[in-house]
Amino acid sequence: DAMEMWSRVDQYITEKLIPHDTVLEQVLSANRQAGLPPYDVSAAQGKLLQLFVRMQNAKRILEIGTLGGYSTIWMARALPADGRLVTLELDPRHAEVAQANVSLAQVEGVVELRVGNALEQLARLEEEGTAPFDLIFIDADKPNNPGYLKWALRFSRPGTIIIGDNVIRGGEIIDEASTDPRVNGVREFYDLLAQEDRISATAIQTVGSKGYDGFVLGVVNG
Ligand code: SAM
Repeated sequence: DAMEMWSRVDQYITEKLIPHDTVLEQVLSANRQAGLPPYDVSAAQGKLLQLFVRMQNAKRILEIGTLGGYSTIWMARALPADGRLVTLELDPRHAEVAQANVSLAQVEGVVELRVGNALEQLARLEEEGTAPFDLIFIDADKPNNPGYLKWALRFSRPGTIIIGDNVIRGGEIIDEASTDPRVNGVREFYDLLAQEDRISATAIQTVGSKGYDGFVLGVVNG
């Protein structure tokens, strides 16, 4: 079936373009062993995030939704030694696994993992007078996506890249009658992007080992 084909093609892409990486493989197996849900980005998507970090020359990254730190590590590896990646995670168990993975990957010098509800953590970051971020990756609870986008815009400068994951959801996002709060959160996210003239955005549908989904990519206007 289609899903099996997408997975096999993803495997081909990964074999060709993404060299075996013992650390990242250990990270994924640690996540599975700890019973974390398999919501990490795929290897191909992790590398895409890393390429965005490089294209952007990013020094400051904000990630909302750490899980086991798999995407965190992909991005952190492209940061310079004086770079910073702030990542927010609600679940202390996920955060504990993520912190161990970040240490295993030896990126703890650039990664700051904050545990707690992301909306509260974002308010705290503002109180601390955090500097703008160059790239923001939104990948936590989808019902809060509109709130995360508002914060992301506050923590941006002209040229900041904002990425939002899981914005296609097998095509469910076009279902106006959906009662799924994740679908509705994502639909509101689109509405906000449509209204907001501070950001120019698109969405790209993807297939692969994670099924049929996609991401939003936006750049904050000058
Ligand atoms: N970015 C990760 C990766 O690709 O490896 C995957 C993140 S996973 C899709 C979403 C994460 O967001 C989960 O670990 C979940 O516990 C966390 N989360 C859910 N609600 C949250 C909230 N209100 N604040 C912060 N994190 C939250």
